[in-house]
Amino acid sequence: MDWGYSINQPRAVNLDKNDLGVAEKLLRRMPLLQACIGCGSCTATCTAGGFTSFNFRKVQTLVRRGEYQGAYEEMSKCMLCGKCRLACPRGINTRAVVMMIKKELAKQ
Ligand code: SF4
Ligand code: SF4
Repeated sequence: MDWGYSINQPRAVNLDKNDLGVAEKLLRRMPLLQACIGCGSCTATCTAGGFTSFNFRKVQTLVRRGEYQGAYEEMSKCMLCGKCRLACPRGINTRAVVMMIKKELAKQ
């Protein structure tokens, strides 16, 4: 029967299967990143997000899960203006997170 809508497939993240090498390095260097509450203030204020599809909250969450595909290219859209850092209620140095992720992923 066609109800006019479909149900999304479930998407489970199996952290045991993901390579968490970069994520662990990132959290060792920036432990405060674990305090992220996913509020999205960084993304809402992002300068690059106004011109591109860049979504800092999404990309850093994927990287922390060990899902690095496309993360380097996405992080390269960041203009390093630092607005997100001013907006973060947890005081996370988001600009530094961008640079760390790019540096680590560039080695791969
Ligand atoms: S530093 Fe990058 S992520 Fe942060 S607001 Fe500026 S462009 Fe967006
Ligand atoms: S503003 Fe800070 S706490 Fe909110 S999603 Fe961004 S990094 Fe996380």
